[in-house]
Amino acid sequence: MSHPVDLIRAALDAIPLPTLLVDRTERIVASNADAQTLLGAQIENRHFATILRQPPILDAIEGCLRDGLPKTAQYLSNDGAQDTTFTVSCRFVPGVGVREAGGVLVSFQDITHVEQAGQMRRDFVANVSHELRTPLTALMGFIETLRGPAKDDAPARARFLDIMEGEAARMNRLVGDLLSLSRVEEDERVRPKDQVDIVAQLNSTLHSLRPLADEAGISMTLDAAPGPLMITGDGDQLRQVFTNLVENAIKYGNRGGEVRLIVTDHDRDGALRAPSVRVQVADDGPGIDPVHLPRLTERFYRADSHRSRELGGTGLGLAIVKHIVNRHRGRLRVSSDVGQGASFTVILPK
Ligand code: ADP
Repeated sequence: MSHPVDLIRAALDAIPLPTLLVDRTERIVASNADAQTLLGAQIENRHFATILRQPPILDAIEGCLRDGLPKTAQYLSNDGAQDTTFTVSCRFVPGVGVREAGGVLVSFQDITHVEQAGQMRRDFVANVSHELRTPLTALMGFIETLRGPAKDDAPARARFLDIMEGEAARMNRLVGDLLSLSRVEEDERVRPKDQVDIVAQLNSTLHSLRPLADEAGISMTLDAAPGPLMITGDGDQLRQVFTNLVENAIKYGNRGGEVRLIVTDHDRDGALRAPSVRVQVADDGPGIDPVHLPRLTERFYRADSHRSRELGGTGLGLAIVKHIVNRHRGRLRVSSDVGQGASFTVILPK
């Protein structure tokens, strides 16, 4: 028959969580490979307090050894790339260890992703509240002024109502973008299956954005082979992608500048390893400092916060673009440099 510790070790190795056994001598008498990856290769026969060191987990193990009742604690670590969080369960095991006096089985469950999701949700709520609070505060201030000091001042009233309209429109855009984002997230796993003519979509997008471009004195050009170019996609969502990108190019581009759309057809795309259509939207505006590029598609991330707010931006446009492109199993590429304009390329599988 095998030595009892070998049996225990074999059993621990079958548990898909870092797990170790502490006996009455307060030493780690057995551990599995996952526990050694987490805590170090030489942990057996050492006192558990020299290995684990964090008071909550020490209290839990000591308590469990004392009264035999299950305990849980949190254990914080770092895997080299990020901080990690574990829920540690301590359960009493009778009849093991020195003089078969029993021990405590300690197992670590990685809950880092749960913690991260919670943090993301908290950040998101805080961001949304902050974004809504600014226009709301302005609206409340103007209502007060209209009731009091500006009650009989017709020109001031007209001016304030204009500003209030602008602030209400900002809130409306924010709520609209939040709803789009949640709708896109909801069906991100469902593959679109309609046949969409990309060139027709782009022409119609450009047509509806023409007044905005004219206002900024910006000319728009579409460089595409004549005739339809079909892909499998969701027409409304793709239209939203192109609208957001072209709108940004107009908003952030130079007055009197140019926005260029270039459509290319690829039999075998290097990025997708499949046939694709690439749509590049390029402007000749001030561009984006490359330090911002990796975070540009995060919700509420703004490279130039002042300018975005001044132009009524919600900070959600590119987050929506990225989700839609992901749903289409495509890619979004951004390249830019200060003073060099910005170029956003959507790569979509056919
Ligand atoms: P916003 O509503 O602020 O425009 P987006 O998600 O659409 O939000 O864009 C995020 C940020 O990326 C913007 O705040 C802006 O700083 C930057 N950006 C987007 N497109 C361009 C562009 N064409 N030129 C320069 N900066 C851009």
